[in-house]
Amino acid sequence: MADKDSKMVKPTEPYGDVDLEMLKDFSEANGISGHEKGASRVMKRYVQDAADEITYDALGSIAALQKGSGNGPKVAIFGHLDEVGFLVKEIQDDGFIRLINVGGMWPHLLLSQEITVTTREGKEYVGFISSPPPHGMSAEDRAKVLPLEDLYVDMGVNDKEEVEALGIRVGDTITPRTQFRVLNNPNYLLGKAWDDRIGAAVATDVLRRLKGVPHQADVYAVGTVQEEVGLRGATTAGYLVNPDIAIALDATLASDVPNAKYGKPLGTGVTLSLMDGSVIGNRELVYALEDICKELGVDFAYDIFLRGGTDAGAIHKLRSGVLSVTVSIPARAIHAHRGVIHRKDFADTVRVLTEFCRRLDWDMVEKIRRSNQ
Ligand SMILES: [Zn+2]
Repeated sequence: MADKDSKMVKPTEPYGDVDLEMLKDFSEANGISGHEKGASRVMKRYVQDAADEITYDALGSIAALQKGSGNGPKVAIFGHLDEVGFLVKEIQDDGFIRLINVGGMWPHLLLSQEITVTTREGKEYVGFISSPPPHGMSAEDRAKVLPLEDLYVDMGVNDKEEVEALGIRVGDTITPRTQFRVLNNPNYLLGKAWDDRIGAAVATDVLRRLKGVPHQADVYAVGTVQEEVGLRGATTAGYLVNPDIAIALDATLASDVPNAKYGKPLGTGVTLSLMDGSVIGNRELVYALEDICKELGVDFAYDIFLRGGTDAGAIHKLRSGVLSVTVSIPARAIHAHRGVIHRKDFADTVRVLTEFCRRLDWDMVEKIRRSNQ
């Protein structure tokens, strides 16, 4: 891996044809697990012109179908819309809010970060996560990571009455609040929730690029919900769509940061996941994608993990099984208020998956299916 990575030429000019407005809208949408409406509406807005039909499962996952030329196989590209965040656990008399986490975030990364509290009426208020200052702490306490129970949201108000007057109640959502930015090398894009809005954006863009291009397969772009709390939306959306081939997009760890031990560097191209803690990718499906990368001259690499999980972990076990694979986008600092992705990984992944969906026919599906027999 090190050899290949060190030889990788990374672009300095903006790479590929990337809709930055779409990525910004996906990233900035509010959508913690179980409350993904803000994000699914962004997906609907961008995908609807390319879709013949849009359906939802009961949990809120959105499935946009672009029909093929008739009687073709069904291929679905899944990206999860939910992000990690919090709910209001308690509003204290002094006006500070205690949090309960939805999905996992390391408290180390939370201090002084801005959040949005969204009320039942849909009103949004800005606050920030805080803690007592270190000045009064013992050296031992200062060296520790504060547990989430010790943190609180400061809304900048006098007391509980003022918080309640805003309409904020126990159970309201608390979402990381971060502005999308293009960084100093224009290929590096900063935002929140790249895990996994970038996957939903890939699925959306594949459908948009297939519009007007003849293809046999029925192609679904699926934005799933509740992945971060246990692949829940993938299970229900998988049933809804019932695909012959499933490709789950997810963020993977970036290896090009200090002290990194796992993952792939930003700008890898297409990252094909052979295995993670939830699924062993169908090898013939991996090879089919790899062959397209080679044919198109797109850089690719393999990712192998023993831990973690993606929507494919749920989808491949549905009914009597679904031929599935995970394709990953490296992201720096996932599950944090700020993360960074690379234009090349987005653009190359969209290009290769679009070509795969364009080519997919029953012969390809049978070849992939027979590889297990
Ligand atoms: Zn994810």
